[in-house]
Amino acid sequence: MTNTILIIEDEKRIAEWISIYLERAGFTAENAYDGKMGLQLARTLNPDLILLDLMLPQLNGMEICRILRQDSDVPIIMLTAKGRKEDKINGLDCGADDYITKPFDPDELVVRVKTVLRRSKGHVQKILSCGILSLDETTQKVLLDGQTIKLSKAQFDILSVFMRYPNVVLTRNQLIEQAFDNNFESFDRAIDTHIRRLRKIIHIHNFAPIQTIYGAGYKLVC
Ligand code: CA
Repeated sequence: MTNTILIIEDEKRIAEWISIYLERAGFTAENAYDGKMGLQLARTLNPDLILLDLMLPQLNGMEICRILRQDSDVPIIMLTAKGRKEDKINGLDCGADDYITKPFDPDELVVRVKTVLRRSKGHVQKILSCGILSLDETTQKVLLDGQTIKLSKAQFDILSVFMRYPNVVLTRNQLIEQAFDNNFESFDRAIDTHIRRLRKIIHIHNFAPIQTIYGAGYKLVC
């Protein structure tokens, strides 16, 4: 079942651009271009997550957030303007789950959406797959071309993150944050080492899904 994301954003160009990226990542995206319509769709569509712009005609993002929070736990990510720290604070204060600052990188937005969704739904047991590779998050079993492979804890955690976000460029920081909840001592270089070892194990024949994106990070291509 696909998750429906409601985008409440009055700048149509931005709203449509976000929709394209979300749909590419497998979501259903719906748009509302003003606050009133947004609130109405939030009630009727029952979306899995709402991307909520702050500055909106009719009802602003903060008002919508407050109204929704009276009777709904729907995950909300606020879209805030760059440098307006008070917007972030007020946004989280009104009950938003996360915020993202404009202008933003669409891949980063997709990662945030998935993270907030995952957090809100709890850790559901799931078997993730990418070509000949599959990973069971509950049993921690990894199969490569039908064979069980052994990974270290760190390798497993990193691979899980890749498999949760296939085809998305992940920065080293995002990998550290997602895989180790930021409890990671030696940072960037250590991530590179883990990934190098991981590649040695899972890259067989022509199967080489972990790509280095120079200047950005890594991507699992599925
Ligand atoms: Ca706006």
